[in-house]
Amino acid sequence: MQKLEVINFMKKIKAYYQTFSMEDYVVKEWQDRLKPYDIEDVYAKLDQHLRGEQHDQIPKLHYITKFLKTPEEKTKAKCNDYLICCNLCSQEMPLSEYDNKHFDRCSSINYLLRIMKEKGMKVEYQDLENLDEIKFQKVYEKYKKY
Ligand SMILES: [Zn+2]
Repeated sequence: MQKLEVINFMKKIKAYYQTFSMEDYVVKEWQDRLKPYDIEDVYAKLDQHLRGEQHDQIPKLHYITKFLKTPEEKTKAKCNDYLICCNLCSQEMPLSEYDNKHFDRCSSINYLLRIMKEKGMKVEYQDLENLDEIKFQKVYEKYKKY
């Protein structure tokens, strides 16, 4: 991230947390530490924090950079990626996709399918897989109680 981008990023944090310090030495530290990372990743991390359980606390620099990958590290990770087969739905996909989102979604789909079929509903894996995240969450919330 560029220095100015980091300042704008910190201003955004300040908008949510008025006591967030933007003194020179703090800004300097954030600029140094965030420099290697992509702006989208950093903002995504803040969004995650704002939606998370700790959202009443000011996000720490340590939290923002945790698990983030620099562009070089991301390229490297891609090269190490290999195709795997999901043991629940038998679809083939890169390991990173499986780890990042497929596993959770696929487990939830299989769980829902079982419940919905027990209730005599005609529903296929594909129907649930095609739902966007928000709709899927709604269906999940509705049926997980049963
Ligand atoms: Zn699967």
